[in-house]
Amino acid sequence: MAKSIVLKTAEEILLMRESARIVSRTLGELARHVRPGVTTNYLDQLAETYIRDLGAVPGFKGLYGCPSTILTSIDDAVIHGLPNDKPLEEGMIVSIDCGAVLNGYHGDHAYTFAVGEISPEKAHLLEVTKRSLYLAIEQMRIGNRIGDISYAVQSYCEAHGFSIVREFVGHGLGRELHEAPEVPNYGRKGHGKALQNGMTLAIEPMVNMGKKEVRILADKWTVVTKDGQPSAHFEHDVALWEGKPLVLSTFDFVEDVLGIPRSTPEWASKELV
Ligand code: MG
Ligand code: MG
Repeated sequence: MAKSIVLKTAEEILLMRESARIVSRTLGELARHVRPGVTTNYLDQLAETYIRDLGAVPGFKGLYGCPSTILTSIDDAVIHGLPNDKPLEEGMIVSIDCGAVLNGYHGDHAYTFAVGEISPEKAHLLEVTKRSLYLAIEQMRIGNRIGDISYAVQSYCEAHGFSIVREFVGHGLGRELHEAPEVPNYGRKGHGKALQNGMTLAIEPMVNMGKKEVRILADKWTVVTKDGQPSAHFEHDVALWEGKPLVLSTFDFVEDVLGIPRSTPEWASKELV
């Protein structure tokens, strides 16, 4: 049964921004702790405590049987890696995807972190994937379609020699973690559903250094690349409001902790009202 798209009012979008910002602040807190020797279980505990201290509840835990607050996907893991007691090692990359619910609305966003020093090739993959997310967000305008968002990610990442995961996609976001429509990271300009005012989407490029094919590990959760090459994942929550994209989540907290320039473009930081 296809779900229908739930358009949001200005009031709902403001609430969704609060939920998104809880996740943003949580990722910022985790950024202080991602380093060699730290376990993903430790990060998971930190995230849960932090979210509850902010008066929200973890958004993933218990949903679809998910056992954790964050999903931690290391190197060849694309998404849905489960936290464990293995220490992170220098040179790894780890995608941390986190969800929180406040006032009945979900926040859902992700950042891929470098653990210590990483190879130039991995750094390039992270940079291109993050950049593709903003190129996708820029397409979220009246007159455009879902395919314009998809094409922006695919064309930019493939031009850099990377490939796009097909089996997992972005999605509508709101009272449910996964609402309509699906937001693939590959597609054709001018195709797909028309974008409408009040749409709220989780846009999340999943980009592989090698080939696009993925498989699921025996834990039934972790999605890994078939060729064992690294994969990156960045995710923002975005509303289409007054014809333009309004980025509800922010990497500012993470990037300030990491001491790197803020990636939020000028146009994305405007106020709702
Ligand atoms: Mg997510
Ligand atoms: Mg998502």
